[in-house]
Amino acid sequence: MQDQVAIITGSSRGIGKAAALALAAEGASVVVNYARSSAAADEVVAEITHAGGSAIALQADVSQEDQVDALVKATKEKFGRIDVLVNNAGITRDTLLLRMKPADWQAVIDLNLTGVFLCTRAVAKIMLKQRSGRIINISSVAGLMGNPGQANYSAAKAGVIGFTKTVAKEMAGRSVTVNAVAPGFIETDMTNELSNTEEILKYIPLGRYGQASEVAGLIRFLAADPAAAYITGQVMNVDGGMVM
Ligand code: NAD
Repeated sequence: MQDQVAIITGSSRGIGKAAALALAAEGASVVVNYARSSAAADEVVAEITHAGGSAIALQADVSQEDQVDALVKATKEKFGRIDVLVNNAGITRDTLLLRMKPADWQAVIDLNLTGVFLCTRAVAKIMLKQRSGRIINISSVAGLMGNPGQANYSAAKAGVIGFTKTVAKEMAGRSVTVNAVAPGFIETDMTNELSNTEEILKYIPLGRYGQASEVAGLIRFLAADPAAAYITGQVMNVDGGMVM
């Protein structure tokens, strides 16, 4: 990925961080996006530069149009191009439907779905002009099979899948690929909050939780491998066999 530039939203920890490290190791210049505090993002940048790679940290709440546009503008000004967008930033506000407040619904839709739209639209212009680009949207098995307590999250993640397929069709004529990755249960800060982890194991045929690096491996393939140029509009699971 020498001379290529990748933006990974929400990449100061978890799956986003693992993807940032993986793409930087392939030679890409990486934008480590964070929402609020820069400390963790700065550490990711330091880890990449220490290993001989290239990265900068840029703040943007990707649910906000003006901040997304500023993020993409700053990236273009710094590196001159954008080759890869990983729409990774995501949150959960889990509760059963009857207890779900409109604010819980809206916050999850705003980041996990509208944020994907805003970031994709902002980079699309640049990628279409370049006649190349790879967009990878992080969905979830919850968007494929539903999950009690996650009406907001599974709706957003299912929305990301429909969005991925439409944009893949719209951008294919200019050799821009758009795919979705659907992780199962990956050990990160997001899942550390859950209490029923033993119960979840019963539904994972491979009998263990996934690691962020295992999701990053597929992101790296879709972003960097020449063979992935012929893959678009697909949803690929990294879930230990949870959905098959
Ligand atoms: P995480 O909570 O560790 O990381 C999420 C990242 O998003 C954090 O760096 C956070 O700072 C960032 N973020 C939050 N709000 C933001 C905003 N408004 N703007 C920009 N960044 C923001 O979670 P993770 O497990 O690494 O999740 C990464 C992605 O993978 C998410 O989209 C999540 O829904 C998805 N996913 C995770 C799992 C899992 O089991 N961990 C499963 C399926 C899908």
